[in-house]
Amino acid sequence: MTVLFASDLDQTLIYSRNSMGMDVSEDELVEVERYEGKPLSYMTKKSQSALWKINESAFFLPVTTRTQAQYERVTGIFEGQAPRFAVISNGAVILENGQPIKEWSDGIRQQCVSRKTIITELLPEIERHFSEDWVLKVREADDWFVYLIVDRACFPEDKLDFYTETFKKLGWGMSLQGRKLYFMPESITKAGAMEYIKKRLEASYVIAAGDSLLDLDLLESADYSMLASHGEAVRSAVPVSGHVQKTEKHGIKAGEEILARVAEISLQRK
Ligand SMILES: [Mg+2]
Repeated sequence: MTVLFASDLDQTLIYSRNSMGMDVSEDELVEVERYEGKPLSYMTKKSQSALWKINESAFFLPVTTRTQAQYERVTGIFEGQAPRFAVISNGAVILENGQPIKEWSDGIRQQCVSRKTIITELLPEIERHFSEDWVLKVREADDWFVYLIVDRACFPEDKLDFYTETFKKLGWGMSLQGRKLYFMPESITKAGAMEYIKKRLEASYVIAAGDSLLDLDLLESADYSMLASHGEAVRSAVPVSGHVQKTEKHGIKAGEEILARVAEISLQRK
């Protein structure tokens, strides 16, 4: 029986200095990503060895909103060879042995075009609704989706539900993670890409993990899921199904908890 472990990376398995929490000591940490010569993301040593061991009982599939270049910087999540598949750009792109599967992305592109959820349609709406005061930067992710770098101190949190509704009507999902406010076309989902890999591998059981609103479709479509309690999804109080378990711990220790649970379940299911 093939067990698939489909997991988000940032703030689920790997953590920045800002997101890791206080209950971890320096000598527990291991760097897993370096950017412009500086360490950027970490795991605990315990998490890293648990993740490296997962492939004895499950097939590890990274499922991230990172672009290909951003994903390729995260070298500490595997021991020898990189995972055979990786879902990047939130599901718009699937890498197989490091190369994007063209037919997959072409299909997603067609859906985005026919639903008019393309960046050129979105940008005027962003300009119309959002104040220059708190939008620090507008970034486009490989022509698939947009994220704003926002000043959280000035960001009107009380209007978030209104914005979410407004953009949902236009076919865009919103997600606020730290300083990043994402606008994701409804056709680009982590669950859709995971289902494709599940078929390719003929996997019969899927364990998923995540923390943000962009992870919820993945968590819902898996057989068993772990949702990190510190994340946007728990804070937003969106209801989740019974097979989605919230972690007891927060921050980088939630990552340890997730991996321990995944090891336990995948061994049972093997
Ligand atoms: Mg995340």
